[in-house]
Amino acid sequence: MKAVVVEEIGSFTIRDIDIPQPGKGEVLIQVAVTGLCRTDLKLIRVGHRDLVLPRIPGEEVVGRICQLGENVNRYALDQRVYVYPGTSCGQCGPCKAGAGNLCRKMKIMGFHRHGGFAEYVLAPVDSLIPLPDTLTDAEAVFAEPLSCCLNALEQANLKARERIGIWGAGPAGTLLARASLAMKAAPFIIEPDDARRPLQNGYATPPEMKFDVAVVAVGSADGYGQALAHLNDRGRLVVFSGLPPEGAGQRVDFNALHYHEQTISGAYGCAFRHGQLALEYINDGRIKVSDMVSHRLPLEELDQALDLVEKRQCMKIHLYP
Ligand SMILES: [Zn+2]
Repeated sequence: MKAVVVEEIGSFTIRDIDIPQPGKGEVLIQVAVTGLCRTDLKLIRVGHRDLVLPRIPGEEVVGRICQLGENVNRYALDQRVYVYPGTSCGQCGPCKAGAGNLCRKMKIMGFHRHGGFAEYVLAPVDSLIPLPDTLTDAEAVFAEPLSCCLNALEQANLKARERIGIWGAGPAGTLLARASLAMKAAPFIIEPDDARRPLQNGYATPPEMKFDVAVVAVGSADGYGQALAHLNDRGRLVVFSGLPPEGAGQRVDFNALHYHEQTISGAYGCAFRHGQLALEYINDGRIKVSDMVSHRLPLEELDQALDLVEKRQCMKIHLYP
């Protein structure tokens, strides 16, 4: 099969490798579409805390089951599925608290095990979510980025009618805004990049506005400084985007947090239940996603696709193996 293989940080090759065989409790999936996100850019060109090499990346996958491993009886061949990218143990403290994404034995598709930048991918049966016929492959694959946004809004404890400031008008910022609207909150997007500012459409934000919740979906230390400065009393800042190491140690005014009873919380990835919830939101039309795809490219054009992401010249890119 054709696959993208990263052997060292900064480069990848596209080559023919053997189709993997599903083991006990696994299925083989023929990939229909895989989403590209900024995390893939970081993973391939800069490296990532959770990446184990060599690796086929790709953590946003929708496809069709084409081979069943031993002990798989819940699913049949040809079933269309979304693959939740994590496998968690279900036994540790975070798992029992509903935070499977923080599982101490977490293995992420595209990071610890091979992902969807290939014609086929293996997945444990417990990570599958079957898709209704009413969802297209291209819509369903948004479940992964949307799940991460839903986790962030959960960490923010976002409530109806609250005002939420979202830094970044890219795919993540747009999904955060649409998910906030679906939760009956009032989203405002702040886009620091002039070229991308037109994407704010409908969310023009007065510069002095303060927010009950702020989510930073741009990997910029300045964004975090601005977001903190725009929090209301009892406001909550969610650290959604990681920062390069040189920006991660910036100063925080703890006295401001003290006097204004503000909170900073982190959000990393998503749990399985966020995938189920994301698919419900997309399927019942509360969150529209299909207009967000700016590029549909063959897997062979991954390098050009990564350039588009790096230069912020795209919205969502879907890759087709
Ligand atoms: Zn666990």
